[in-house]
Formats: sequence, structure tokens, C-alpha cells
Amino acid sequence: TGVVEAPSAEARTTCPYCGVGCGVLARVAADGEVIVRGDPEHPANFGRLCSKGAALGETTGLEGRLLVPEIGGREKSWDEALDLVARRFRETIDRHGPDSVAFYVSGQLLTEDYYVANKLMKGFIGSGNIDTNSRLCMASSVAGHRRAFGEDIVPGIYADLEEADLVVLTGSNAAWCHPVLYQRLLATRQKRGTRIVVIDPRRTATADESDHHLALDPGTDVLLFNGLLAHLARTGAVDDDFVAAATTGFADAVGVARAEASSLADVAAGCGLAEADVRLFYELFAATERSVTVYSQGVNQSAHGTDKVNAIINCHLATGRIGRLGMGPFSVTGQPNAMGGREVGGLANQLAAHMGFEQSDEVDRVARFWKAPAIARQAGLKAVDMFRAAGDGRVKALWIMGTNPAVSMPDAGRVRAALKDCEFVVVSDVTRTDTTLHADVLLPAAAWGEKSGSVTNSERRMSRQRAFLPSAGSARADWRIICDIAQRMGFGDAFAFDEPAAIFREHAALSAFENDGKRLFDIGALASLADAAYEQFVPSIWPLPKSGGQHRRLLGEGRFPTPDGRARFVAVRQEGVALAVDVHRPVALNTGRSRDQWHTMTRTGRVPRLMANTAEPTLEIAPQDAAREGLADGDLAHVSSRYGFVRAKVSISANQKSGSAFLPMHWSGQFAANAGAGSLASPLTDAFSGQPELKNVPVRIFREAVA
Ligand code: SF4
Repeated sequence: TGVVEAPSAEARTTCPYCGVGCGVLARVAADGEVIVRGDPEHPANFGRLCSKGAALGETTGLEGRLLVPEIGGREKSWDEALDLVARRFRETIDRHGPDSVAFYVSGQLLTEDYYVANKLMKGFIGSGNIDTNSRLCMASSVAGHRRAFGEDIVPGIYADLEEADLVVLTGSNAAWCHPVLYQRLLATRQKRGTRIVVIDPRRTATADESDHHLALDPGTDVLLFNGLLAHLARTGAVDDDFVAAATTGFADAVGVARAEASSLADVAAGCGLAEADVRLFYELFAATERSVTVYSQGVNQSAHGTDKVNAIINCHLATGRIGRLGMGPFSVTGQPNAMGGREVGGLANQLAAHMGFEQSDEVDRVARFWKAPAIARQAGLKAVDMFRAAGDGRVKALWIMGTNPAVSMPDAGRVRAALKDCEFVVVSDVTRTDTTLHADVLLPAAAWGEKSGSVTNSERRMSRQRAFLPSAGSARADWRIICDIAQRMGFGDAFAFDEPAAIFREHAALSAFENDGKRLFDIGALASLADAAYEQFVPSIWPLPKSGGQHRRLLGEGRFPTPDGRARFVAVRQEGVALAVDVHRPVALNTGRSRDQWHTMTRTGRVPRLMANTAEPTLEIAPQDAAREGLADGDLAHVSSRYGFVRAKVSISANQKSGSAFLPMHWSGQFAANAGAGSLASPLTDAFSGQPELKNVPVRIFREAVA
């Protein structure tokens, strides 16, 4: 890679891509090559890596890296850049108030980075305007968990998939998006005979391996799970004792479900499924005590994602299958530290340590702990609204950290226009991206392998990322950049951290401060972790055991962190999609990941072997739709929505239902002009979570003449 000169010892670290959070052993060979292998001792992967993780060593080069700060495209010193950012933020706040500034951060940040960014914005600037690209990923799960459990609790652990007799994967192409977790499931299935049901409009690689694939129509998930709840009630499969002792709202939820899904035939017709397939799924679920329902972006990325999450949770509450080995609803996150971001309050409507703005005593508790007289008292702007505000002048200074919203946000054309119009845009990142083109100030951030801190994966397992490379150029760790700015803004004492371990200890202490069991997220036992112990920290699931042994299961004892200690059924109705297809845009476009790419390809797009599988943006389209438009394999398609257009290579595929198509989310202006799926996607959002409907975009597709 050219960045080190001597071979290094093997570092124990964590993959920076998906929410599985695999352990990685990395070392630098004598010739500078970075060699990685799966960590056999990490409990997430036990030595496995997927194609992306196995290629991590090829992403550590200097191509595309930001190496020195820039102001207006000119290289500057760190002092000049930091002084300017602090001064412009301070002046903007003084003139227009704290809500005139905003941070847009990332599930790529480490917990320590996230913690100080959240502390600076909410505690010291005094605005809730910090949101994260995890808003696009799992905000509906957070909202659904809070409605049902009273706190954003993921009750499942990976071992549940290995102890289940039935695993339902809904809105989850785990074979490509959480590959190592999926490999664990397949390995178990060989021994245990686990039944796998996949619910997805598209026949994915995951569906290919399933026992049963239910290719429901887009947006009909609530109807399918309401039908399941009604079926459980009708057939005596409800755990009456659990429902009576541990829940509220069952009668209402079942009443709505019965009214909507009075028969299997109604459900089948409403979801576009065969009645026999619906029956088979319902009977299998009803009869299988050890059932896990895994859900991911296909559920979350919807204008009704929160209702979908609660429709799933309702079925697990009705059967008492939650928080016990081999059973439970299980949201898996897209990013490596989406969960850590949730723990520190990285979403605009969260505070810190799983607290929120709804209860003033929680705001006061955080203010006391931080000694923060200016603490925000209300939620800030969520991602879509934040970029609207940057475009219309309400947000005048915006700092984007480690993410590429110019490509990844829905209605991305409008986001790019907003970045142009915003008075002052700061971007701290590892590489140049489509977003850095719009920055007034660029701050080079340390990359994976160059920085240290911690992450939490989808099963609440905290692991360390450890540096084993020197920083490229003058790049700095995100937490240090944030603290440098905070100190220049006059908040010195509260940000006088000199290492990530000190930040982690404060984060842990806050989770326990005046908590008294009110919130389940409590890692106070780590508040006195010595530097050496932080360095040696082994991957651990919270809540940590009081005295050695295994972690405690969450929610398995039928007690929930609600005021009355009971879980809440939520009566949810099938609402359909935000935008329906019509004669002008007759195809429902689905977006998602390719097997070998990560986000907007800023790292994986530089690895030839990862590019080899899908070398260019490819539109999968059903044979019937291709025939109607006169499209053949390999044609260049022009795809337009009401928000924008892209071009992509046509691949006719029977995996698509008639009337639907699929476009990967990854490509950007850097890799192929006019190819970003975000340019097509709708900015319409879920009313509870603020998550946009990225999975369903009515589009028109036609063959583009090639000159
Ligand atoms: Fe990395 Fe996810 Fe692959 Fe594991 S499954 S190696 S965390 S991308």
C-alpha cells in the first residue's frame, strides 16, 4: 500500500462494512501489503469473512484519499481549517441560533466518534440537529422497538438463528447483505434441518436457498403479518398466559388484524400470493415454537416501515416467542456501527444512552451528567428534512462526516442542489466523493486500519476496531477532529479527551448515571475500564453479566422497559406504498445491495476482483416488462422517476415479478455518470421513523439509443 515500511504484528480488529460485525486479523507484510483473515475467536464470524471482508487489505491504499485539509479547494494547515470551521459555526449560531447548524453523520463512525459528535451538537451547541445515514437503514426498527418495548431493544442474538427450527427472513437478502450470518444459518440448517422462509418481492440469492419463498407485492407486509396474527388467534396458537401477564393491547391488535385479514383468501389476494403459500407459512409459524423473524431494509425502508416492524413483533408477542433461545423478532442493521450510534443517541430524535426528548427528566439527567447548560430540549431535523433545510436556508452551516449523501439520499438531485445552496458545508471523510465536491472545507479523516475505537454489531456485541497502519497524510481520527472543533468553539473542558478509551469510559458512565434500571442499556460496569483493559477488550454482548459468565438475555422474562413493565401490541393497518405505479410510470423499482459492493463504492469500487462480478450499474427487469418496452439483455435503459433519471445496463431476469425491477444502490458519478439509484428515489418518509421509502419507486423504463 505504500503507507508503512516495516512488517507489523497481527492486529485484532473488526470489519468496517456490515452489521454482522465480523472479527478480522490484519497485518502488514514486509512489502507493505495488508493481509487479512477472519478472526477465529470472534463470536460473530468464528473465522469466516465474506467477499468484501476478505478484500479489505486491498482497500487501504492511497488512491482517492484525502491527505490534507482543504479550504475552497486549496490545501491548508489543520489549524487554518479548524479555526475557520469553528469560527463559521460559532458566528452562525450567534447570529441565527443553534438550529441554524447541523451535523449529518454515519454508521461508519466508531462509537467514540459518534459520542462526541452527539455531545457537541445536543449538549453544547444546544440543537437536536444531528442525524445519521442510519436513518436510511434502520430508523423504522428503532421506532417499532420503542413503540412495542418502550426502549430500542434488539432482543435477538446470532445464536438464536442456530437454535431456531424456523427462520423467517423478511425484507432481507442476507445471502448478500449479511453474508457471514447467512453462512452460519446455512451451516446450522445442514445439521438441524432448520426451515427457511423468505418473504421478498424479488427472488434473491437468499430466496434461492429457502424452503419457501413468498414473493409478495411491494408494501403488503403489514397485511401478511396481520393475517398471521389473525391466524394465530383463530387456531389457538396464542400464548394466553404470556399475553395476559406481559403485554397490553392484544385485543385491539387482533381486532384490526381480523378486520383486515378475515380469510387466507383475502390475504393472498391482497399480497399477490397463492393461498396455499400463505397457508403453509402460517401453519409452519403457528406450529414452530422456536421461530426467529429476521427483518432488514426491505421492511425498514418504507413510508410505513414502523407499522411493518410492529406487525412482525405483534406475532412474536402473541406467541410469547421473544428473548428466549431460538426465538424472537430480530432486526439486523446494515452498517457496522448503526447499533453503537443508537446507543450514544446519534439519531436526531434520540438523546444518549437510549434516552429521548419525550421525558424532561431524561433530558435533565443528560444535562447534569454533561454539565451542559445549553442542552437541546427537542428533537432535531431528520435526514430528509435536514437536507431540505440546508437547501432553503434554515440550516446555514452543515458538517457531513463519513458519508456520501449526494449519492445515497433519496431525491439526490435535490440534495446536491441543497449542498450547493447551503452557505457553509464541511465534509470530513476518508476519500473524495460526490459529496466532497460541494464542500467549502474538507477535513481528511483516518480510515479503517488507521483509527481505534469500538463498534456494536446487530446482536449488541461490542467489539474493538484497532489501528495497525499510520494515518495517511495528515488524516486524523474523527473523534479528534470533533474535539478540536469543540475546543475552538469554547467547550474545552468537556472535550478534553486525549484517547478513545477516555470517551468510551464517559459513554459507559452516562449509561449508568442515575439510571437505576430505568433503561436496559447500561454498560456502567465499563466506566472504570483501564486503558490496558480497553485495549484488550474482548467482544461482549450487553447487558454484561454482573459477575462473569454469559450475558443476560433481554426481554425473556416477560418484563419490558415500559412504565407498566409490559410489552405493547400496536394495532397496525395495511396502508400500501407511498407512491403507486400508474400508466406513466408502470414499474415499481426496488433498490438494494450487490453482493460485492459497499455503499457508494468509495472503498470496494477500487478493488478489481470486487468489480468483476457486476462491473456496471445493471437494471434487473422482468421478461414481460422488457418485452413491452422492446428491451433486450445488454441494452442501455433510461430509467426515470418523478425525481430524476439514471441509465443502466439491462438484465432480463425471471427473478423479478412482472411490474417490478431492481437497481443496485451503489453507483455514483465517480463510477458511472447518471447511475445513482438515489436520484430516482422518493423522499417520502415514515411518519414515526422519518425513514424514506427507498424500496419502491414508480419508474418509466425505455431503451436508450446509443449513438
Ligand atoms: Fe464484513 Fe459483513 Fe462480510 Fe462480515 S459479513 S466480512 S462484517 S461485510
